[in-house]
Amino acid sequence: MLFHSTRGKDKDKTFEEVLMQGLANDGGLFMPDSWPQVDIDHLKNLSTFLDIAKYIVPMYTGSSFENKDVEKVLEKTWHDFEKKELIETFDIDKSLTVLELFHGPTAAFKDFGLQLAAAFFNKTLQVQNKTAIVFGATSGDTGSAAIDACKDFDLIKSFILIPDGNMSEIQRKQMTTVNRPNVFPILANGTFDDCQDIVKKGFKERSFLKEDQYLLAVNSINWVRIIGQICYYFFASLKVNKFSEPLNFSVPTGNFGNVFACYAASKMGMPLSKIIVAVNNNDILDRFFKNNDYSKADVTETISPSMDISVASNFERLLYDFYFNRNSQKCSDHYTDFPSKGIKIDEKMWKKSSELFLSYSINDDSTYECMKHFCDNFNYIMDPHTAVAAKAVIKLNNTLSNKTVILSTAHPAKFPIALKNAEINLDNMPKNLEKVLNMKEVEYKLSASEDSIFDFIKEKNK
Ligand SMILES: *Cc1c(COP(=O)(O)O)cnc(C)c1O
Repeated sequence: MLFHSTRGKDKDKTFEEVLMQGLANDGGLFMPDSWPQVDIDHLKNLSTFLDIAKYIVPMYTGSSFENKDVEKVLEKTWHDFEKKELIETFDIDKSLTVLELFHGPTAAFKDFGLQLAAAFFNKTLQVQNKTAIVFGATSGDTGSAAIDACKDFDLIKSFILIPDGNMSEIQRKQMTTVNRPNVFPILANGTFDDCQDIVKKGFKERSFLKEDQYLLAVNSINWVRIIGQICYYFFASLKVNKFSEPLNFSVPTGNFGNVFACYAASKMGMPLSKIIVAVNNNDILDRFFKNNDYSKADVTETISPSMDISVASNFERLLYDFYFNRNSQKCSDHYTDFPSKGIKIDEKMWKKSSELFLSYSINDDSTYECMKHFCDNFNYIMDPHTAVAAKAVIKLNNTLSNKTVILSTAHPAKFPIALKNAEINLDNMPKNLEKVLNMKEVEYKLSASEDSIFDFIKEKNK
């Protein structure tokens, strides 16, 4: 199985190349050349998340690694989870289940994708006898999950830019209390967009890299993150009804990575009814699914900060595969003037949406109300991101048949202010989070300028 870009020019890439490169050279996103197909009867007989990962992941890694080596990597990949099964489910009622993806070390679902990425980064670096720098900006959970996933690998140094802004104190502390010689959390005096720009320039210039050193991207466009996420959709289907009937999945979405993993699982043969694309006030995706209007708007800060985005990078993969039937020319044409001009696709093609997708944009007041509703009526406390997905299910309930799974992407304890505003008392906190609260913060304060940040990395990279 090889990979190619959604824009067609960068192709015949191995798994390892796609992993280490991140974004395709033509500006597109990597896709597998075909969708590997699962045997549902085989999956029905598996039981753990790891069993499923050992079945799914090798379908994508064959161009670079032997299956037995991949299995060895996977046995060590997901670590420091607070639940033995990694994922738990909570049944709200007969037709509604919450899939808790937040039992990992950073208490958000991003541990699934980033621990897999880190494991394969490390494996590749060992084989090639090289080192790497991870460079990224974070508005919330990506940075902590990336730092945590890479911190035990000496071949990798992580530099994460933390902007001024809407991040919760716990989210920041998860990055600043790690205190390892290969981890550099940088408090950059600027906005998230300033930080993103610096990261983008860093990937162009590479001035701080040593010879033979990789610069690794950990943002959600990396295909390996999607693979890790595909696995838990199969796990959910196994747990909820052993694949006996197609499920609906309601997914709180920002960059569309998690939704795309659901779509990918269905292309691989997982029974699927509807995908609910649940967003906060940053509603570019909802505008597309409702009105065929995919145009960039300014970011508004919400109580679900990990979904505060102006464009959804992984959406390009859906345009390419689902709407354009893998026509890369069409895909690159549509992105020529984006984001200065919005994307609107052929009306006939766009109508295809309704086969599979529903969407809803939920504002902060409705999010609070939903948190309160589930707490009062079901004694279940959810974080604001999860509540966006839960509220979308309530709004769309009339149009849904089949059972629905809500993806719970973060532990509520990560968002104490939102809990307080919703008048919810949470009395248990994951040990991984409790730990960071009282630890000393070590961070580097720099201005959000290329020079100061690139110089800093160069110095620490000696
Ligand atoms: C990153 C994140 C999301 C959004 O995920 P995407 O894959 O970008 O759509 C949702 N919830 C939480 C808690 C997150 O950290």
